[in-house]
Amino acid sequence: MDMRYVMKFGGTSVKNGGYARIADIISQYRKHEVVAVVSAIKGVTDKLIEVTEVAERGNKKAIDEFMVEIRELHREEVRKSMGKIPKELEDQLSRADRDLEHVLYGILYLREATPRSVDYVASFGERYSAYILAGVLNERGIKSKAFTGGEAGITTDDSFGEASPLMAITEAKTKERLLPLLEKGYVPVVGGYAGVTQSGIVTTLGRGGSDYTATILGVSLSADEVWIWSDVDGLMTADPKIVPTARTIPELTYKEALEMAAFGAKALHPRALEPVYEKGIPVRIRNTFNPSHPGTVITSKPSKKFPSVVKAVALIRDVGMLTVSGASMVGRPGTAAKIFSTLARAGVNIMMISQSISESNVSMVVKRNVLERAYSALEVEMLGKIVKDIEMEDDICVIAAVGEGMKGTPGVAARMFRAVANEGINIIMIAQGSSELNVSFVVKEEDGEKAIRAMHREFIDKISSDF
Ligand code: ASP
Ligand code: MG
Repeated sequence: MDMRYVMKFGGTSVKNGGYARIADIISQYRKHEVVAVVSAIKGVTDKLIEVTEVAERGNKKAIDEFMVEIRELHREEVRKSMGKIPKELEDQLSRADRDLEHVLYGILYLREATPRSVDYVASFGERYSAYILAGVLNERGIKSKAFTGGEAGITTDDSFGEASPLMAITEAKTKERLLPLLEKGYVPVVGGYAGVTQSGIVTTLGRGGSDYTATILGVSLSADEVWIWSDVDGLMTADPKIVPTARTIPELTYKEALEMAAFGAKALHPRALEPVYEKGIPVRIRNTFNPSHPGTVITSKPSKKFPSVVKAVALIRDVGMLTVSGASMVGRPGTAAKIFSTLARAGVNIMMISQSISESNVSMVVKRNVLERAYSALEVEMLGKIVKDIEMEDDICVIAAVGEGMKGTPGVAARMFRAVANEGINIIMIAQGSSELNVSFVVKEEDGEKAIRAMHREFIDKISSDF
C-alpha cells in the first residue's frame, strides 16, 4: 500500500552538500507520497537572530558584511549539492536576500528589533533551505515546489518566538495547498520552524521548531507516519558521550518520548509530539548519515516489550536547588502556593519539587541561571515570616529515569538507589510523578556521570545485544 510520509530533515542533515544526500533518500520513496520539511542550515538561525541585535545597535557595516556572508553560504551549499545554480533557484535566493536585507535595514533605521521582526528575520534560514532542496529535487527530475511555513498554510497565534498552531485553520489550508500537488506526484518542500498569523504576519514555533512543523503537517495531512531525519540513530538509552554502551531505543510510547524531550533529548522538540499523540500517528527518528538504521519509532503501543523497566537515563546539568524550611510551615495551608507564586512572579520555572510529609521543608530544582533570582525573590517575600531558612545549592545535577515499565513494578526505586549507593553516591532529593513513568533524583554535580553509568549498568547493560 502506498503511504503518505512527512519527512523532516534537520540542520546538520542539510549542511555540507546534505541536500544531495536528502534527495537520494527521498528518491527511494517515489512510489509513496512525501512532504519534505527542512530546517535552516546548521548555525544559520543563530546568525540571523544575532544580526537582529547588530541591526538594533545601528551597525550598518556589520549588516552589509552579514548579507555577503549569508548570500555566499547558501550558494556554496547549492554548488556542493549540484555543482551549479539553476536560474530559477538563483532568482528565488536573490529575492530572499533582498527581502532579508530590507527587514534588517528596517530594524537598523528604527533601532528596534521587536519580537515580531526577530521572528521574521529568524524564519529566513528555512525559506532559503526549502528553495534549495526543491531546486535539487527538480534538477533530478523529481517534481517539487518550495513553500515557507506560512505559504504551506501553517497558521499560528501571535506569540512571537514560541507561537502555537491554530490546528483547524492549518489543516484546512495545508490540505487545500499541498494535497493537489501530492496527487500530481510532486514532493512539496516546506520550510520548518515558521508559520503566519491569521493576518499573515510571520511567526516562529520556538527553537528547534522544524520538528513541530513536521508533526503539525503530519496531522493536518493525515500522514501515515512522520519521520524526523537527524544525525543520530534515534533516541538513545543514555548520552553515549557519558555511557559508551548506550544504545538506540527501538520503540517508545508518546508518553516516554515526551518525558525524554522535556529533559532535552537530542533530536526532538518538546512540543512536537502533542499533535501526533492525539491522532496516534507514529514518529520515526532516523539518521540521514546512516539511512539503513531503523532508528526509534514513537507510537502509542510498542510492538515488543522492552526487556527492562527503565528505557532511558539522563543527566540534567546546569540546575540548582532551593530548600525552604521552617517549623511554622507545618499544617499551614497555602505555604506551597505562596512559594510557587513568588517564584512565578519572579519568572522562575520550577523543574522538580519535593516536600516531606512533615511539611517542614520544600525543595525545588530550577535552572542554574535563575537560581539567585529565585533565592532573592523568596528571601524578600517569605523569610522571617513562615519561613525560617532558605538554602541554595548550585553544585547539583538531576538524574532522570524513564520507562512505562516502572509502573506498578515493585522494587524499581530500590534497585535504582542501591545501584547508586553502591558507588558511594549520596542522593539529595527524590521526586517521582504518580504516573510512575519517570523517577528523578538529585545528586552532587561531581557524582552525576558516575550515577548515570551505575543506572545504565543496572537497567540497560544486561539486555541482550540483539534486542
Ligand atoms: N532552524 C531552527 C532552529 O535552529 C529550527 C530547527 O532547526 O528546527 O532553531
Ligand atoms: Mg532539532
